[in-house]
This record gives sequence, C-alpha cells and structure tokens, in this order.
Amino acid sequence: MGAAIVTGAGQGIGEAIALRLAQDGFDIAINDISAALESAQAVAEKCRAHGVKAECFFADVSSYDECEKMVKEIEKTFGGIDVLVNNAGITRDGLMARMSEENYDKVIAVNQKSVFNMMKFCGTTMMRQRSGRIINISSVAGVHGNMGQINYSASKAAVIGMSKSAAKELGRRGITVNAIAPGFISTAMTDALTDEQKKTMLELTALRRYGTPQEVAGTVSFLAGKDGAYITGQVIEISGGLTI
Ligand code: NAD
Repeated sequence: MGAAIVTGAGQGIGEAIALRLAQDGFDIAINDISAALESAQAVAEKCRAHGVKAECFFADVSSYDECEKMVKEIEKTFGGIDVLVNNAGITRDGLMARMSEENYDKVIAVNQKSVFNMMKFCGTTMMRQRSGRIINISSVAGVHGNMGQINYSASKAAVIGMSKSAAKELGRRGITVNAIAPGFISTAMTDALTDEQKKTMLELTALRRYGTPQEVAGTVSFLAGKDGAYITGQVIEISGGLTI
C-alpha cells in the first residue's frame, strides 16, 4: 500500500487515522511533538499489531526546518511517501477583543503554516513519484466561523484555500488534495470546552451526538484508498449535520 504520514498522531483524531491507515495496510510515520513521546510510541505499537511498519518522528510541524528534516528521514525510512494527513492542530480560544497577539500567531503557525511546510516537502516527493494523496484536517469553524475562535477559524479557512490551490498545482502529477471539516468530535480538544458550550453544540447537531475520531478516520481511509482516486480539491464536512 505504501507509506502514510499522520501529523499530531499521538492522540485523538490523529491516532484514530494512524490506526485506520495501518489497518488498511499502510506503513505509518507517526509525527508529534516530543512532549507526546509516550503516547506516540503506544500508537506506533498498536499500528504494528496490524502487521505494518510504524515509526515515530518528533518534530514541531510549525517549523519549516524541522519539517524538511523530518520528511527526508521519513522518505529514507519508508522509501517513499504515498499519503500525507495534516492533522496536528491546537486551539487558543478567546474573544477577539481580548485575544493576545501571541495566541493569534501560535494558532496560525501550528494549524496553517504546518500545512504549507508539510505539503511543500511531501509534495516534492509525491511529484517525483507521480502519485500521492494529501488530506488536510480543517474544521467547520473554517467554513462557517465560530465565536471565540478568530485565530482558529482563520487558520482552518486557510487550510481549505491551500487545499484547493495545491489540488490545482499538483493534479497533473497524479496527486489529490482534499480537506475534511469535522464538527464536534470527542477528543481532548473538545473535552476542554465548558458544559454550556458542549450543550449548545449538541443542540445544533442534527444527529444529536458528538462524532468519534474513528468516524473522521473512515473518511480519511476512503480518500486515501482506491475509491477516492478521482476526488480532489473538495471539502468534506463530518459534523452530524451541525451546519445544515
Ligand atoms: P488533540 O489535541 O487531541 O490532538 C492534537 C495532536 O496534535 C496532539 O497529539 C498534539 O501533541 C499534536 N500537536 C500539537 N501541536 C503540534 C505541533 N506543533 N507539531 C506536531 N504535533 C502537534 O486534537 P484533536 O481533537 O484530535 O484534533 C486533531 C485535528 O482535528 C486538529 O487539527 C483539530 O483542529 C481538528 N479538529 C478537531 C475537532 C474536534 O472536535 N476534536 C473538530 C474540528 C477539527
């Protein structure tokens, strides 16, 4: 099947994506920051249980230089890069009037610049191979906006624009680029919301339940697999009808 890189794969949605792609038969490069060493190693172990190769690569994906170095190491380890999932992401929520410049810049760096870094370096390898699948994890906040998330929604809207531009640039080399926009998925990121915020999200969700990381991973698997071959430049919302 080839090799897949999943950024921020030490927990949450990234972990579920890594495990699902391992189940599909991909060798897995698990990226996360070094603070997530133990959880990332546990994810690698679970991936190997599916009979594939799995290795951890620690790098801060907001750093251009660290990404360049990491992608080279991954290519050397696996002999190619077939799937890139840009999943790493953070929130630093707050109303615009009170948001610090630091919290604005940090979210843009981790959620948005990382996608440029990783698509640029992995895209070079994929262009050489004349094949590849890139899946960028955006958010419904990037499509519709969200109060208290001016930084996050800016970063996630950018990811959609970047996915469409990259789809146009890389299509002739047989590379697809798509974005996924999840709604409310149960992970550490959403555990941090207040009970009031969780209740509101649930009331706005047509299916009246939160999504699971595995449900996001299922769509990544589809886009990375043979049935996703003719889909590019699209945004797929996985939100239980949050935005209808
Ligand atoms: P999470 O906080 O559980 O996991 C994020 C992972 O990214 C962590 O392992 C973290 O260590 C890693 N990470 C953070 N900064 C990094 C960096 N600079 N370099 C490398 N790794 C880094 O979050 P999650 O809920 O699993 O979210 C995963 C993705 O899905 C994010 O991009 C998030 O914005 C997006 N998303 C989540 C939801 C949701 O409801 N949970 C909804 C929409 C979009």
